[in-house]
Amino acid sequence: MKPVGPIPAGYEELDGELAIGGKTASALVAEAGRTPLFVYSRALLDARVAALRAALPQRVGLNYAVKANPHPLVIAHMAPLVDGFDIASSGELAMCAAAGIDPQRISFAGPGKRDDELEAAIAAGVTLNCESEGEAARTLAIGQRIGTAPRMAIRVNPSFAMTGSGMKMGGGAKQFGVDAEKVPELARHVIAQGAEWRGLHIFTGSQTLSADAIIEAQGNVLELAAKLTDAIGHGCPKLNMGGGLGIPYFPGDTPVDLPRVGAALAQRIEHLPASLADTELCMELGRYLVGESGVYLTRIIDRKESHGVTFLVTDGGLHHQLAASGNFGTVVRRNYPSAIATRYGARATEEVNIVGCLCTPLDRLADNAAMPRAEVGDLVAVFCAGAYGATASPSAFLGHGPAAEILV
Ligand SMILES: *Cc1c(COP(=O)(O)O)cnc(C)c1O
Repeated sequence: MKPVGPIPAGYEELDGELAIGGKTASALVAEAGRTPLFVYSRALLDARVAALRAALPQRVGLNYAVKANPHPLVIAHMAPLVDGFDIASSGELAMCAAAGIDPQRISFAGPGKRDDELEAAIAAGVTLNCESEGEAARTLAIGQRIGTAPRMAIRVNPSFAMTGSGMKMGGGAKQFGVDAEKVPELARHVIAQGAEWRGLHIFTGSQTLSADAIIEAQGNVLELAAKLTDAIGHGCPKLNMGGGLGIPYFPGDTPVDLPRVGAALAQRIEHLPASLADTELCMELGRYLVGESGVYLTRIIDRKESHGVTFLVTDGGLHHQLAASGNFGTVVRRNYPSAIATRYGARATEEVNIVGCLCTPLDRLADNAAMPRAEVGDLVAVFCAGAYGATASPSAFLGHGPAAEILV
């Protein structure tokens, strides 16, 4: 038997089924008209933002990293809840524009920005978090050509990374950001060339559950930002401090101690270096904001035995939930939180392998998991599906097409 990860708080049982937003899984599938289906919960999105606002100092703004879940209804729901939006492509810029988000609230980070993307962002008044000297030169040239001063920040590749981070985004040679020691000269150059200076972006890691690691990283980020600001010799209008707060996916994972992170940050802000006294601060979060608010529902199409092992074969799989299959940045496959949604709360009576419908042994949703007996037609729920699910999975693979998505 292999345990499954912890089911996030806020999910309920109704008539023996998993319920989201007061509706059973069956009712939600009926509403959407088909499986597989991603269900995102407004109430859980609201609750997560409220928890962050309560814990973090008022001075610290909240940005949503759109790539975690760019569904139009999710973006629109987040629009009044957060302060800013972080995008990573002109496609995401178009999605934010469609949701009516003021471009002044948007910053654009990411390596390999094309000229047409830079132009669209400059023209709209989006802040460009510059990833290299070459990108800075292209940005300035395009700004001159179209007669608009680009709003520019510099993404810093710090010499440190967040310890215990699931995905290290700083420290050593990286495709992200400008090496810290080169930042002051580049910043002075873009300011001299007429860019509107927007400050610094320092992102040190992702999917961290340890409050200590987050607190340490935030301390390092503030210290580095102060040092760089002194060296640049211009005030830092805004500092995007990164985020990196993780969510529990696997057995033994525990949630980030958010009040402790907030209290430590409040203390740091009380003793902020003089060079950052007037700097607007923000954190950027993707997964932490939306990950636990989503569930992936898929229907059991077949139930079969092979060499004494029971397989529940679903109509979903890694083409929608690559991460749950263990093929998106994990070394050892572990089980995401999952359940039989139509027998929610029933006692586990058997051990099953829940698999997808793709012709590859990689397509597994849960291995050797203890579940109540499920039959063809039952629904399986995979939790923590609100971030890096639908759009971070190869939905064209094998031609089944994308899953349905609803916000309730
Ligand atoms: C992906 C990314 C994020 C969001 O990361 P999460 O782990 O989802 O919070 C934030 N900032 C940058 C620069 C990113 O690339």
